[in-house]
Order: sequence, then structure tokens, then C-alpha cells
Amino acid sequence: MKPAYINQKIAIAHDLYDKWAGTLEENSAIAAQIRELSARLEDSNSFSLRSGVSQACMLCDRDEGGSCCGAGIEDRYTPELLLINLLLGATLPESRHWANSCHFLGERGCILPARDILCVNYLCSKLKKSIPPENLLQLQQVNGSQMELLFLLHDRIRNFVSQERVNREP
Ligand code: SF4
Ligand code: SF4
Repeated sequence: MKPAYINQKIAIAHDLYDKWAGTLEENSAIAAQIRELSARLEDSNSFSLRSGVSQACMLCDRDEGGSCCGAGIEDRYTPELLLINLLLGATLPESRHWANSCHFLGERGCILPARDILCVNYLCSKLKKSIPPENLLQLQQVNGSQMELLFLLHDRIRNFVSQERVNREP
């Protein structure tokens, strides 16, 4: 059954983490993908800083109250994607910080290291105008590399957990 609310999905992600984190981390292929994803996320973040995107978003938030992280976007997140965030060391908030914003928007931006494709790909018209096109292109390439791996890892974890469940059934 598809969980309806983000708090239900967060509870499922915590359950999955409690049951499977050890087994997932002992699986060498999954552990290697988590390490590689963490490295690619770091590359993305550092290019975001170098290209001026982080600064532009910080100013937009501070001066124009203009975060594009609206309430409801959190519904795109699956328990498995939230589990990946837990495996990457994230803490998932029980309640939202800003009433009209996404559940995962913290005081200093998004609190999730591994994000949905919509969040990673989004470039507002302000950014398109203010950031040099070659930087935006490079950012898309760096982000593409993390999203490709995240997609594979998400699938692998989903299959692994359902197979383990079948194996452990009496
Ligand atoms: S993507 Fe655009 S609207 Fe969203 S925070 Fe950055 S500058 Fe503001
Ligand atoms: S980037 Fe983070 S805070 Fe913003 S909409 Fe996506 S998940 Fe929510």
C-alpha cells in the first residue's frame, strides 16, 4: 500500500533502517555504491558553490523569501530514498520547519543529501539568467552523474530488501 503522508514514509524509512542497515552495509556492492554516491554528492555541492548557484539561492532565500521548495514536494520521496538519506547520515525531521514549505527545508536550505530528480534538476529563470551557461551545463553534468547512481542504488536497495524478506520467510 502506498503511504499517504510524509510522516508515514519517514516512519517506514526508520523501520527499514533499523531492520536492514547492518545487512545493507555488509553487502559490498551496495556499500561501494553508497560511498561512491557520497563522493558524487560532494562533487555536486562543491560545484554548486564554485558556480555561484549556492550563493544565488542563499541570497534569494534571505532577501526575497524566495525559496522554490514548496509544501508538497516532499510527497515525491519514497521510503527507500529516505532510507538512502539515513544511510548517508541524514536526520529526518518529524515536523516541518516552515509551514508553507517542503517538509525537508531547514533553516539553512535542504537537509537531505540525496534528493529527488525534480529537486536536483530545477533551475529557476533567475538562475538561468544570472549564472553563466557553461557553469549551468557543467552543473547539469555533475548532477546527472549523482542522479544516475542514485537511481541504480534506489533500485538495488528496493530489490535487495524484498529478496531478503522472501528469504527470511518461514
Ligand atoms: S532556485 Fe531560484 S527560486 Fe529557488 S532558491 Fe534558488 S534562486 Fe531562489
Ligand atoms: S530541495 Fe529539499 S527542501 Fe527543497 S523541495 Fe527538494 S527535498 Fe524539499
